[in-house]
Amino acid sequence: MAYDRFGRRLHYLRISLTDRCNLRCVYCMPEDMTFMPSATAMQDDEILRLVRLFAQLGVDKIRLTGGEPTVRAGVVELVRAIHETPGIREITMTTNGILLSRMARPLAEAGLKRVNVSLDTLHAGKFRRLTRWGDLEDVLDGIQAAEEAGLQPVKLNAVVVRGYNETDVVDLARLTLNHPWQVRFIEMMPFAGATDFQQLMLVTADMMRARIEEAFGPLEPVDGGRLDGEARLFRLPGAQGQIGFIASVSQPFCAACTRLRLTADGHLRLCLLREDEADLLTPLREGASDEELRRLIVKAVWRKPWGHGLAQGEAPQDRTMSQIGG
Ligand code: SAM
Ligand code: SF4
Repeated sequence: MAYDRFGRRLHYLRISLTDRCNLRCVYCMPEDMTFMPSATAMQDDEILRLVRLFAQLGVDKIRLTGGEPTVRAGVVELVRAIHETPGIREITMTTNGILLSRMARPLAEAGLKRVNVSLDTLHAGKFRRLTRWGDLEDVLDGIQAAEEAGLQPVKLNAVVVRGYNETDVVDLARLTLNHPWQVRFIEMMPFAGATDFQQLMLVTADMMRARIEEAFGPLEPVDGGRLDGEARLFRLPGAQGQIGFIASVSQPFCAACTRLRLTADGHLRLCLLREDEADLLTPLREGASDEELRRLIVKAVWRKPWGHGLAQGEAPQDRTMSQIGG
């Protein structure tokens, strides 16, 4: 089992399948983003070998992300192979939903259990402004396809950006009245490339909640307001779905963090918001044995930091969110 020095059992691995994307969200990457050369990125067999080693160390839950995981060639077969890896109990995906209308069913058949779909607004013009390239209809079709394929319960992720969509939290929250969805509002985090924008345009979870409560009245805490993963959950009175707040910046949940991240170029990232990483792909390509790789992983996991340093003004400057795998 992989434990860190604080006794946290690390059993949840997020894998960035690619740093590439078919959108250019303003809070994530610049429009003229430069992507890594394909040779630098992990190949399918390399991902599968690492997944097998992580599973042997106690990882049982995998989330595929990116970049946009659905743009990776052969993603359905990769999902199937990860699903068949002994020890992997659950495989999920975070996606922008653009390609889901045709990929939801094959992904579900390959063993994908659930999806988190990013949706920051229900207004087509604002959606285009936030994603620079996106068509809202594609995402709405994708969500429907995900539900029909059984990728449930669907969770929707909305990053809230001042001047772009802070008033849209009301419409998004309203979705939970008649859908069994979990709509999660996310505070924008600072990364390389757009750090100033991300810090200036931050809307805190308290501000989002105040706006929602102004429209609907007080939110009811779910499970006494305890954290569910990274989200604190609430419900509108009588609603089918739930509302979550992910307050990574204003109310960090680091103590409960059981996540590890594998970047698209095969580095084990110990904290989303800290630059410390262990390169696994280079030793793997240089012929390291399973035992040597496992030892590298265990050693790196041990030094997982307690939490991020945003409150001390420390934001990661080495990679964008899409390069780490959000
Ligand atoms: N392309 C997929 C998507 O958009 O869902 C997966 C990768 S994306 C980097 C993963 C999640 O990170 C998305 O929900 C996205 O909204 C969120 N995200 C991107 N940049 C962010 C930032 N600066 N702060 C907080 N969340 C961010
Ligand atoms: Fe692409 Fe997701 Fe980043 Fe948007 S948030 S640019 S969809 S990787």
